[in-house]
Amino acid sequence: MPDIFWFRKDLRTVDNKGFAEFINKISDSSKFALIYIKNKDSFKYFGEKRISFLIECLDELRSELGSLGLTLNILEGKSSEVFEKIIKEHKEVSVYCNEQVEPYCLGRDERVKKLITDSGGSFYKFTDTTIFNLGEIKNGEAKQYKVYTPFKNQCLARLTHGHYRKISVDLNLLQKENQIKIKAKTYDTGKNYAKLTISEFLKGGRKEALKLLKDFYEIGIINYTEKRNFPSVKGTSLLSAHIHFGTVSIRECLRTAYVKLGKASKGKEDIQKWINELFWREFYYNITFHNPKILYQSFNREYDNLKWNYDEDNFENWCKGKTGYPIVDAGMRQLNQEGWMHNRVRMITAMFLTKDLFIDWRYGEKYFADNLIDLDLSSNNGGWQWSASTGVDAQPYFRIFNPYLQSKKFDKNGAYIKKYVPELKNVPEEFIHEPNLMSVMEQKMYEVIIGKDYPQPVVEHSKAREEVIKNFKEAIRKN
Ligand code: FAD
Repeated sequence: MPDIFWFRKDLRTVDNKGFAEFINKISDSSKFALIYIKNKDSFKYFGEKRISFLIECLDELRSELGSLGLTLNILEGKSSEVFEKIIKEHKEVSVYCNEQVEPYCLGRDERVKKLITDSGGSFYKFTDTTIFNLGEIKNGEAKQYKVYTPFKNQCLARLTHGHYRKISVDLNLLQKENQIKIKAKTYDTGKNYAKLTISEFLKGGRKEALKLLKDFYEIGIINYTEKRNFPSVKGTSLLSAHIHFGTVSIRECLRTAYVKLGKASKGKEDIQKWINELFWREFYYNITFHNPKILYQSFNREYDNLKWNYDEDNFENWCKGKTGYPIVDAGMRQLNQEGWMHNRVRMITAMFLTKDLFIDWRYGEKYFADNLIDLDLSSNNGGWQWSASTGVDAQPYFRIFNPYLQSKKFDKNGAYIKKYVPELKNVPEEFIHEPNLMSVMEQKMYEVIIGKDYPQPVVEHSKAREEVIKNFKEAIRKN
């Protein structure tokens, strides 16, 4: 019976749990194949920069395997149809892969598993994208945690070296002459890559992931706790897309952090802070696992009564970075240009859409999903529902970010704003956060006419704030 390893969000050969298990099962004479399936339906939701990043990851993996005479079959089509073809040709097969948490992936895996087992084969899944098995971390009443801090504390209390030890993978055990041919439509990465917009900011592939991790741990981690809040500074690891696509494993990240923690004489709190961030991801994965419906409804159901606004002009202005709030506009333009946005600004822009514009968080979530390279269903939903105050362990609805104060605090001299909103490049610090306060003379002097070269604020923050609090109270009252 041929063995098949199905790469998904684990695009590396090193420290890969499912891949290691697959190789360990293979004997000298076992027939096998390595595959990746590009599903047209799920790619509908991928932005161009995200696809080009993924292709960079796939091409590097393919060439690494190719140097050993091994073929990565990059196939195109619905997973169940691809496996139907494989079964038709090879009868019984054993399929190995790593677990995914997204509800549509779980449904897909169930369908594929049924096909395979009905035809006499086997389907094996392993925990690789999270540190603990999904659902393993429970509170004293054996229920899911709904608050991050006790969840994280429980994870840290249970964490042993075994959770992040390196999983060894011996590629030499794969005999190239034992590979089977897969007769399914292949995806032409080169031809497709040529048609796509690429990000100048983030580059795919394991080599880049390892470089980012090394640079971060050599320099970037110093003062991470503070620096991570300032969008004009390179103060975070930039690893999110790599962690998502698995060019670096979550264990490698944690291992690097703990090795450094063991050796550090100072800056331990920065390393611990970064470790804690990795557990936000783990937390949101578990929330999705226990509550798959959050992908289309509020975690906190009492807020399903909110009468959201659906103003198309406001939404379009937000998407394009034309709200007249410089910090919001800079964030949205960073997303549009680079396929990435700084975490502090993700919170500011998401809070602005859901509170100042009172637009349904699902619209913002979808826009981020379409444009982020690091799109991760659970973290994105978690971030959006946190900002909208509808989510698990969310920001309370009355604690609304003031975009001007956020801007003054985290981009004091406007360096970040000026990078992405060049119309404001001559505006001095005094006005950079609220350029509409400039007199006509000042506007002329700094070469930006408000209402012509740069928009007037689309809403008044203090009024919007009052309104939104009223709306939330109303929704609670109706429950
Ligand atoms: P670092 O500060 O270096 O953090 C290291 C890693 O920890 C990250 O790569 C990420 O894997 C994880 N992490 C850090 N912060 C968070 C967090 N708040 N929630 C979950 N994981 C976290 N992150 C995504 O990976 N994909 C998304 O689609 C996504 N959407 C978001 C949407 C909103 C509205 C908000 C507020 C946050 C979102 N985040 C998302 C979380 C966070 O913004 C990014 O993980 C972070 O900016 C990535 O940059 P980094 O790798 O340099 O982070």
